[in-house]
Amino acid sequence: MKNIKSLFAISLVVASVGLKTYAHGSVRKIFTSQMTFPFENHSKKLYGVDKRTIYLTFDDGPTSAATPEILEILRDYGIKATFFVVGRMARNNPALVARIREEGHRLGNHSYSHEFDFPTESHFISSLKGTHNQIKNYVYRHDLLLFRAPGGIWNNWRTQIGNSDPSLRRYVGPIYWNVGGGNPNNRDDADWKCWTKGVSVSQCEKSYLNQIYSNYRRGYASIVLMHDINRKSAQMLAQLLRDLSRDRVQWNFELIEDIPAVQEMAF
Ligand SMILES: [Zn+2]
Repeated sequence: MKNIKSLFAISLVVASVGLKTYAHGSVRKIFTSQMTFPFENHSKKLYGVDKRTIYLTFDDGPTSAATPEILEILRDYGIKATFFVVGRMARNNPALVARIREEGHRLGNHSYSHEFDFPTESHFISSLKGTHNQIKNYVYRHDLLLFRAPGGIWNNWRTQIGNSDPSLRRYVGPIYWNVGGGNPNNRDDADWKCWTKGVSVSQCEKSYLNQIYSNYRRGYASIVLMHDINRKSAQMLAQLLRDLSRDRVQWNFELIEDIPAVQEMAF
């Protein structure tokens, strides 16, 4: 993610024509180690985005335990979100995969078995393709294909291998986040940590609110990571949206594919 190699030059060329091509509906995309976000330098990666913007993302599902409740809460607020599904979960819950997209949300690829490591290049390709095959029939024609790496773990060979495959090259990724985890010293900055460490729904929700406000004060939009595998995350989402909707700040909720830098990567 940090090495500037020849791909960077390619990315810049791609970026310069990206929006124009996208507008014509001929969408091709690329894995890149450079223009993904936010994690580091997120002021650059989220440039041009109003600091009141929130991108909700849900990973690791879908599951009957949490996804339907999350969809109902989002519908109550008229908010669209991005669901980075795990392939084997999608295979077991095709009706939920269909419902996510039918209700106006977007489907992303989060690997097939949530692998943190891929022993070989072919493992990497088959994992991502396995998930692609689970979601491709539910993705609409002009949706951007998005990938988020399990654990956010990425390196340059994955960029090169992803871009060498015709179907994976169409993905934009890896998509990072700036709310919902990343600090190993913090026990309540991610929903999954809260539930394993016995942190209450209310306390966890406060931590998420603080992370969003922290971004806002620094002038950044928020890409929020939650997981649709535990019902407590649905309960936390309900509290979070209640608090944000009553806030003095008028928050806007958008899709990851609306981020200008993501659209520039689609070429
Ligand atoms: Zn995950």
